[in-house]
Amino acid sequence: MIRTSPVNNDDVKRHNLARVLRYLHEDGELSRSELVARTGLNRSTVGALVSDLVITGIVEEVPGSGGSVGRPSLVVRTRESSAFVIAFDLRVDRIAGAAISIGGRVIAQVERPKSDGPFAVANATEVLIDCTSELFEHVPNGSAWVGVGIAIPGVIDAEIGLVRKAPNLGWLDVNFEEHVTRELNAVFGATPRVILGNDANLGAIAEFVRGAGRNASSVVYLSGDVGVGGGVALEGRVLSGASGYAGEIGHMVVNPGGHACNCGNTGCWETEVGRDAILRSSGDFSGISNIIEAVISGDAQAIEGLRGIGRWIGIGLSNLVNTFDPDVIVLGGHLADVYPFVRDEVIQEITKSRPLFETRALITLPSFDIGSTLVGASEIAFAALLNDPLTEMDRSLALSAS
Ligand SMILES: [Zn+2]
Repeated sequence: MIRTSPVNNDDVKRHNLARVLRYLHEDGELSRSELVARTGLNRSTVGALVSDLVITGIVEEVPGSGGSVGRPSLVVRTRESSAFVIAFDLRVDRIAGAAISIGGRVIAQVERPKSDGPFAVANATEVLIDCTSELFEHVPNGSAWVGVGIAIPGVIDAEIGLVRKAPNLGWLDVNFEEHVTRELNAVFGATPRVILGNDANLGAIAEFVRGAGRNASSVVYLSGDVGVGGGVALEGRVLSGASGYAGEIGHMVVNPGGHACNCGNTGCWETEVGRDAILRSSGDFSGISNIIEAVISGDAQAIEGLRGIGRWIGIGLSNLVNTFDPDVIVLGGHLADVYPFVRDEVIQEITKSRPLFETRALITLPSFDIGSTLVGASEIAFAALLNDPLTEMDRSLALSAS
């Protein structure tokens, strides 16, 4: 996501190649004229950039579907089989993974549930390696492996690959990038860079790059799991804060006389809307899906319990609306499962604090079948390639799937 100002001719060219490839990756196929319009560069410059990208094999020019009779107009698009990343979403009770091609197509998916408590570091690493092997079987031969992205429910220092604090996993100062890289190298030989990201921040990235927050200036993404994570993207950048803690919305205190939180404080928002709160609210149920089934079948206790959760969701959201005045709020994880049943309670709470005409916040559900977090993990894994296509394709072809 880092966009620096170019300083010399090589930098200018690298910068422009990166822009062209990013448009094709994010927006799909485009004609040269559309690339001229988007980049503001002249036609011959765009032609030269496209030619350079075609030579690397990462893009291709093919006849477009529309156009006039006679000579078909060409469109430029990413060549799906040319490059891919492996993305993971590490949760307390499961690991989900996917191989995703340049252009964002999901090649294959994998999931490993875990029912006996959170993943320990060694166990998580082992499962990631095993999933990578499985995903590799579906990747086209010769496709360049350009990155690995891992979403973690915690505070991350991505520069040094450190999980600083993931309370619901019980991880503190774990150099997870190093663990995963070492094991990947042991199995696959050389591997591309492993990049870690906070799960909700990655959800926000996915939603503003390709989802409900496309073209929006501000997006808040909330991931409901054991805890509740938040990612806030303003003007295309995720807020990280002075120490990397920005967006820890689940630990916003909403009920000081309430329940103890895993973070050590009392009354955090996630103690009222996290998984345990929902299970506690509705009687004797083993999972959120059971509660929702009971609500659908008219169980009065489940309905009343979930309404209470809806009010707490609304209280938290009204704080976010007042703080950020966002265009879009995306409710992910179990919040997406619960929201359709408590929409009225949520809207009522937000309206109490701010009449609806004063906010244009769209409250919506995640845009991707495989989960926004996993899509966001793939986007950070593609970042090196998208920032410097020629160098990275050179380097990554050595790591091709075969
Ligand atoms: Zn807390």
